[in-house]
Amino acid sequence: MRCPFCSNDNDKVIDSRVSKDGKSTRRKRMCNVCGNRFSTVETVVVLSPLIVKKDGRRESFDRQKILNGIIKACEKRPVPYYGIEEMVQSVERWIDEINLKEIKSEDIGKFVLNKLKSLDAISYIRFASVYLSFKDINELYENVSELIRKQS
Ligand SMILES: [Zn+2]
Repeated sequence: MRCPFCSNDNDKVIDSRVSKDGKSTRRKRMCNVCGNRFSTVETVVVLSPLIVKKDGRRESFDRQKILNGIIKACEKRPVPYYGIEEMVQSVERWIDEINLKEIKSEDIGKFVLNKLKSLDAISYIRFASVYLSFKDINELYENVSELIRKQS
């Protein structure tokens, strides 16, 4: 850390204390060049929400993973790449807007499904079978029937 007194980048930490709420750490430092003391505060910066998976495990938001999932669902379907890219962007915008620390992977799946529904029915079913993990063929059938009802 650059010393605010002499601007040299040569200091040592002489004390380190975690705040009462555990959300930040204050470090007392001493400049090795001029001997002046100063403090720095370190806090956690959350860049994107954690994704909560069905089994409760958490992982960081992975744009590529969502993109790959949609590409796979749209394989050999008449869905243009920019449509897929746009969908991933709208997922990112949505996550940004709701501004939560954690989001269920299921909710992201549903968001994508809503978009896919109007884009391509086959891709929708493929994606749904992965993300909604249908219990059995009946559940899949119900989903398809509903889709057909809405289209006709
Ligand atoms: Zn200094």
